[in-house]
Amino acid sequence: MKLDEAYDDNNIFAKILRGDLPSFKVYEDAHTLAFMDIMPQSPGHVLVITKTPATNLLTISAEAARAVMDTTHKIAPSIQKAMQAPGFMLAQLNGSEAGQTVPHLHMHIVPRTGGIDIGFHARDVADMDELKAIGEKIAAQIAADLAD
Ligand code: 5GP
Repeated sequence: MKLDEAYDDNNIFAKILRGDLPSFKVYEDAHTLAFMDIMPQSPGHVLVITKTPATNLLTISAEAARAVMDTTHKIAPSIQKAMQAPGFMLAQLNGSEAGQTVPHLHMHIVPRTGGIDIGFHARDVADMDELKAIGEKIAAQIAADLAD
């Protein structure tokens, strides 16, 4: 995937946005959607995606990019709290040379605990019951924190 490649309407995240594929949603607003990564690098790995059809940071508007960061800023503390993780990592990959596998701009929020390595990127599919339970816990924490 090249950085100037045209947007592919049939990428996995476009399908999730259209409701053609399921996801474990934890948060949604007018500009972004956040859901559980199906191949988490740590328990509680969440993806924040733009609702704008944009492949990467070079092809998204500054406004839409800000919306992704706003949502990340809003929900990351709740994810950290729900997972009881002392820290968290953000990652946003641009182009296959950088390791990007889904051509729709997204931010990774990966809870981290010192001394515990993260798993491989996009390799091991999670147990769906476990992922659902973690997603529900995170969604409830986000809703509670936003209600405060
Ligand atoms: P990228 O490599 O583009 O930065 O990240 C794409 C992420 O999407 C990976 O972490 C991968 O595990 C995740 N992913 C791939 N396919 C699916 C899917 O069908 N559903 C969900 N929820 N995540 C996916």
